[in-house]
Amino acid sequence: VIEVQDLYKSYGNLEVLKGVSLRAPRGHVISLIGSSGSGKSTLLRCCNLLEDSQSGEILFEGEPVRWKKTSSGRVAADRAQVTRMRTNLSMVFQQFNLWSHLTVLQNVMEAPVTVLGRSRAEVEPRARELLAKVGIGDKADAWPAQLSGGQQQRAAIARALCMEPKALLLDEPTSALDPELQQEVVKVIKALAAEHRTMLLVTHDMRLAADVSDHVVFLHQGRIEEQGPPAQLFGAPKTERLCQFLSASM
Ligand code: ATP
Ligand code: MG
Repeated sequence: VIEVQDLYKSYGNLEVLKGVSLRAPRGHVISLIGSSGSGKSTLLRCCNLLEDSQSGEILFEGEPVRWKKTSSGRVAADRAQVTRMRTNLSMVFQQFNLWSHLTVLQNVMEAPVTVLGRSRAEVEPRARELLAKVGIGDKADAWPAQLSGGQQQRAAIARALCMEPKALLLDEPTSALDPELQQEVVKVIKALAAEHRTMLLVTHDMRLAADVSDHVVFLHQGRIEEQGPPAQLFGAPKTERLCQFLSASM
């Protein structure tokens, strides 16, 4: 679904991604692990064209992103392509980011209605179905502030799914939650993996990465230091840096 080839990204003089390549084929779950500051969020945001970059290619369903040069690098040139990619790569953030002035149901329905131009009548049954799927069907008419963190994050996942995206990009979806609440969200992510949703998942939860991933990518200072199937990465890490990272994270 999404492919990144030799991507370089800097903020001013700070090189954050130094030639990263990555593929998330349809139906696969790719996890990104690595220390704080290694560039995981930046890579996810580049995939969604929320960031400009310097060089390298990004392909969505085989279609290369078209760029135009700017003073600091380049940005995506084609508005229609950006919209198509953003709507098809739904993002879930660490801090849920629900709209506080909308009910849970309205949050889930908002983007399909305003961005995709679908009718409320058509979207509402699907939105309710998704809320039930993530286990908060009874919270449709509640306000976000009335939900626990775990419930808010599940609402955010339902909201992302309601766009019927080709892939989900999840940036530490459990990190803001207490351990008991993390499990509710982990359960939802596992269910999505079991139904072969394409996902690019940034996580500090090594057990989650081990459980759901087809492929794990270890980023270190903006480069892929090691990658492979979870059994290999977690069971038989090859590089010293990954060994150190794992012993500090498990
Ligand atoms: P964490 O695990 O803490 O979320 P991360 O791997 O997601 O870390 P990034 O957020 O991608 O790391 O940041 C990579 C580097 O880029 C860091 O050094 C960070 O300070 C820098 N950086 C990130 N966003 C910006 C920005 N908007 N402007 C300048 N520097 C930034
Ligand atoms: Mg991050």
